[in-house]
Amino acid sequence: MERQFTKEIESLRLGDGATFHGEGILAVTKALLQSGVSYVGGYQGAPVSHLLDVMVQARDYMDELGVHVEACTSEASAAAMLGASINYPARGAVTWKSIVGTNVAADALSYLASAGVMGGTLIVLGEDYGEGGVVAQERSHAFAMKSLMWLLDPRPGLPKIVEMVERGFELSEASNTPVMMELRIRACHVRGSFAARENKAPAVSTREKLDGPPKEFIYDRLAHPPAIFRQEKLKSDVRLPAARKFIAEHKLNEVFPGAEGAVGIIVQGGLYNALMLALKTLGLADGFGASRIPMLALNVVYPLVPEELVQFCAGKKAVIVLEEGQPEFIEQEIATVLRRADVQAKLHGKDFMHMAGEYTAEAMVRGLTKFLAQHAPQIDLSPGALWLDHSKSIRQKAAELLGAMPVRPPTFCVGCPERPVFSAMKLVAQDIGRPHVSMDVGCHAFASFEPFSQGNTLLGYGMSLASAAGVGPMSAKRPVSIMGDGGFWHNGLLSGVASNLLNKGDGVLVIMKNGYASATGTQELISSPSDEAREASHGASSVHDDRTIEDTLTGLGVKWLRTVNNYDVAEMSRTYREAMTTPEKGLKVIVAEGECQLERQRRLKPEVAQKLSKGERHVRVKYGVDEDTCTGDHSCIRLSGCPTLTVKDNPDPLRTDPVATVIDGCVGCGLCGENAHAAVLCPSFYRAEVVQNAGLWDRLVAKL
Ligand code: SF4
Ligand code: SF4
Repeated sequence: MERQFTKEIESLRLGDGATFHGEGILAVTKALLQSGVSYVGGYQGAPVSHLLDVMVQARDYMDELGVHVEACTSEASAAAMLGASINYPARGAVTWKSIVGTNVAADALSYLASAGVMGGTLIVLGEDYGEGGVVAQERSHAFAMKSLMWLLDPRPGLPKIVEMVERGFELSEASNTPVMMELRIRACHVRGSFAARENKAPAVSTREKLDGPPKEFIYDRLAHPPAIFRQEKLKSDVRLPAARKFIAEHKLNEVFPGAEGAVGIIVQGGLYNALMLALKTLGLADGFGASRIPMLALNVVYPLVPEELVQFCAGKKAVIVLEEGQPEFIEQEIATVLRRADVQAKLHGKDFMHMAGEYTAEAMVRGLTKFLAQHAPQIDLSPGALWLDHSKSIRQKAAELLGAMPVRPPTFCVGCPERPVFSAMKLVAQDIGRPHVSMDVGCHAFASFEPFSQGNTLLGYGMSLASAAGVGPMSAKRPVSIMGDGGFWHNGLLSGVASNLLNKGDGVLVIMKNGYASATGTQELISSPSDEAREASHGASSVHDDRTIEDTLTGLGVKWLRTVNNYDVAEMSRTYREAMTTPEKGLKVIVAEGECQLERQRRLKPEVAQKLSKGERHVRVKYGVDEDTCTGDHSCIRLSGCPTLTVKDNPDPLRTDPVATVIDGCVGCGLCGENAHAAVLCPSFYRAEVVQNAGLWDRLVAKL
């Protein structure tokens, strides 16, 4: 796994009187234990991966408490796990990246929300929205509304996040409804501290086991007709009022007073920090949270409590709603509430703020300036205007000085085993033409950038083969689908492979068997190399021992199946060409085998450090370019894109083209040599062995 959480695991044990220091998402983990959670599950994905990673690594402590932890194979299995709280008084929490994970979990969530829960359930959503987001930009809010599940959006500060986790369970139990909590990227990684409390050993747990199913069989707990009709009524008639009562009674939403009582701001809790920065910039707040403009911070964004809104807006001339993303669900609901209550405050929101995209402090300064200029003209807004002008002039100056910056797309890690596969595909495309390529979610999606520029569609995790189903029959050339082993187990096996076989489809599927769900932090899969294989590998790739993917494909009925070592570009090219051109009908699967270089280096580093500290001999392979023979045409770079294969000034004063060079970060994966050989490039590449703690024999040979 990407990170060791030894220190954080110790923090999980803190009790009364101690102070927890750390990241927002780890504070959530501690708050779950303080709430007496019985079971935790989820599917990894930024920005919430650490929640599950730390729990998995803290398994011994979880066993002590009796908490069951499960690294689920998809968000759907995580959501279904919450079914444990329908019949039993057990608190459960799951986590995933949203919106994508919520989409995958939607089926189970609908059933869960319909049946309702007895034990509190909390779904911690990494709301991957705004700058830094990597998924389709949509909001989880729509899911909360359509299923009538409650949505928390706490102010990003550790004490408030912890409080909302604890209250979230209580709210869930008080209204028999699952509760979601959205945490944006910054909230997950915000650092701070809070006063810890003792962890609660759960009443129902792996230590305090249930006798059996409920004594009385209750049909109404099944989301099945005819119970579903009653459940739908319960949602609006019983659960929603109960939730609103709990939210109001426990003051989950916060009112901050301000001297300018004629105007007000209603803000999603998660945007509070950016709002305070904007108000401070405008000279309307201090650094400790005191604001001149009254604010209503919604730590619960669904459901809203009409009485709270009416109370806040009554007597005001105007209010502005700061709600990120589209459509403006909250603003529309507030408009309905105010109209029905005949509150005359003028309502603003998306008319002064942009519809799509993150609400940065700068965007808020602009929006608030428009709002206040119209409704509070007595306020001096010049500090904000000066600040905006200053930022604009800095940007202009930077643009003048730097000119047009070259695009620097993200790429694979140095030595990544997936890069050679795309080199091979690029080489073969020179002869047979470019096919339609369906990409998938995972590191391999980097191949959609230069220098590979391969990938025509991206439809979700594990969906590449399924997304080629309509293209194949309409195309003269076979479509190619790229899938990681993470995507294969998440969704690709059933949605892609089984569907293709059922429909007697054609096409080529390349599965990157790198051993882990690498893009999310190298979490383990069912086909990850065993501990023994890893230990025995001594730095070599350890994924070869595991045949789970191949056996599964064979068992399912895939006839054309090849496993190829990624780094052997010539063999990969041959196999890929055969798959693309063979007259044989049916699905052709290439399992591209090569361990995630990041994980391999992680394993290698301590081994090498130990060897060197003992004075033992160690050989490191590195590639290089002979600058005298390099022609400077850079075809090697266009075939590889490795960040350590770059250019430098030509040492020959008679030649101006920069020559290729390999810088020190090269991990000696061998792709440079393989590409030079497979593509018949110039003979400039050489392979060098750097010997550390060299012995007598090494020195003698070197001298000779
Ligand atoms: S994390 Fe692993 S698979 Fe992903 S780009 Fe890096 S080396 Fe490649
Ligand atoms: S051998 Fe080439 S591709 Fe591999 S790490 Fe070194 S420079 Fe990069």
